[in-house]
Amino acid sequence: MLFRQILDPATSSLSYLLADEASAEAVVIDPLPATALLVRSILQEQHLTLRYVLRTHVHAPDRIECGALCQLPGVCYAVGHFAAAPSAHLRLADDDVVPFGSEHLRVMATPGHTPGCVSYLWRDRLFCGDVMEINGCGQAVDETNFGQMYDSVIHRIFALPDETLLFPAHDYRGRTVSTIAEERRMNTAFLGRSREAFVTAMQAWPGNRKHAA
Ligand code: FE
Repeated sequence: MLFRQILDPATSSLSYLLADEASAEAVVIDPLPATALLVRSILQEQHLTLRYVLRTHVHAPDRIECGALCQLPGVCYAVGHFAAAPSAHLRLADDDVVPFGSEHLRVMATPGHTPGCVSYLWRDRLFCGDVMEINGCGQAVDETNFGQMYDSVIHRIFALPDETLLFPAHDYRGRTVSTIAEERRMNTAFLGRSREAFVTAMQAWPGNRKHAA
């Protein structure tokens, strides 16, 4: 297998390139225009063929919905079933499988940051997008629903095995990975909070009051 974490320092965004080396098939999760050239150079260096551009979520309207990588021949642009992505080639439901060579990702519906948010599980790694951050929850945007966010994190993500590696779509403090066990133990956004207490605490933050429970 080949795995690369790709940082866009200007936005503290993290995207991920995964490949099955035997078949040379690759997927990229949450690529940005700023890192598209880097992704293309890795694909060329490693003699890989990009099969999927996957987004954990899309903000509407989002000018970077897909970008140049989707123009590559044979690439399928896939998003969660409820994502605001009119140009998507494929919509993925909970528990769908995305194959690349002899590898596959499994889709987990994890709404909250947006209604269409999904996470992708690959081997021992979860790519969770913006539904949560390392020691934090996802940021509030217009479509955010904190009750859904709580349910996705507590009942779906925290139900994964302890050793699962957690890779978010952003980190603003230079961290690159966590584990489910660590997050269950030390994530202060969720730790010891009921659903109601979480929603109340998040709505109390300045600017978050309009987001639904
Ligand atoms: Fe986001």
